[in-house]
Amino acid sequence: MPRTPPTSSTRQSRGELSPYARLSSPSLPPSEILPSSSTHIISATDAEALRQLRTEIVCARQEATRLRRDAAKAKRDTRKTQREKETIEEDTKAETGRAQAARKANEQFLATRDTVLACPGCEVTMQRPFTLSTCGHTFCHRCLRIWFQASIAQRLQFAADAPARLKKPPYTAAQLDEMVQHKYLVYVWYTCPLCDKNIDARPIETRHLKELVEAVNEAFGTVDVPHDIPLDPWADSWIDPNSL
Ligand SMILES: [Zn+2]
Ligand SMILES: [Zn+2]
Repeated sequence: MPRTPPTSSTRQSRGELSPYARLSSPSLPPSEILPSSSTHIISATDAEALRQLRTEIVCARQEATRLRRDAAKAKRDTRKTQREKETIEEDTKAETGRAQAARKANEQFLATRDTVLACPGCEVTMQRPFTLSTCGHTFCHRCLRIWFQASIAQRLQFAADAPARLKKPPYTAAQLDEMVQHKYLVYVWYTCPLCDKNIDARPIETRHLKELVEAVNEAFGTVDVPHDIPLDPWADSWIDPNSL
């Protein structure tokens, strides 16, 4: 008699599993799951399911690879962003330090300007500084001119024959000539407004100091009141004692 394949009921009676049950059973080892070549037949539906499963596995692996690649790139980008952030923070810190140093230097310079370059008479930064040769003190031209004219007016108080219009400054160069011509003054002397030393020569203008003051005034704004100085700065405020 020809052999016929065992039916399901026959296998069940023998306690055996069907080939499909063996294929899908997770508890069996792979050697038991794989059908032996001649005895197990995979249905077309299972074959298609297997192909789809393999396709999904391939897709899943590709997706996993892509995700790993994206994760690695994200990690690199994060490190790069962190480095850039640190660089920006360092630059900002350095810039803040430089700005603070510049502000401090500016404040120190302004303090120096206000004390060194300020006229002792009017206490503002000089525009045209003139120096007294006897003591070295320096004043703006306007302050010395007013001071010298006041010295002349003081001497004229003792000149009984001097007209009243000459006894009060301000003076012109022509009025000073008139004082000399009419000998209203017997003598005149000048002193430093600061240390009171006698001054026997006209104040001089130091070129370097003048240029320095001009540069400072230009950089920080003029604080003195501009005024024109005649070609001879002392023509209306200085009388040579030897001319009397
Ligand atoms: Zn002054
Ligand atoms: Zn002086």
